[in-house]
Amino acid sequence: MSAAHRVVRPSWTCAVDGLPWPCVEAQQALSSSDPAALLQTMAKLMAIAQRELDGTDLATLYRRFLAWTLEPDQRCAICGSRRHAVTPGVPPRLVPCNGLRQVIAAADPSG
Ligand SMILES: [Zn+2]
Ligand SMILES: [Zn+2]
Repeated sequence: MSAAHRVVRPSWTCAVDGLPWPCVEAQQALSSSDPAALLQTMAKLMAIAQRELDGTDLATLYRRFLAWTLEPDQRCAICGSRRHAVTPGVPPRLVPCNGLRQVIAAADPSG
């Protein structure tokens, strides 16, 4: 894997092209790893980015870090959306799914 298109923090931009990381080249480099491991890695990074990029919309972060790792025909098991999916290894709070919020709220009345 080329180390060139690496992330610069805390701006979360690409060290080479200055685009929001992961840029297309970074995504291609990352895609060569095992899909399950990739998902874990990206979920972990998204959680850090969410703290450091304070105020960035969750759906935007999800598209950037996780949506591109999903299978093309993968759908959310809860609401059926193609834009996100509830996936093992991804903390539910990182998934921008309104249906999931309702399930969590129903299961935990204390909020
Ligand atoms: Zn790049
Ligand atoms: Zn959903």
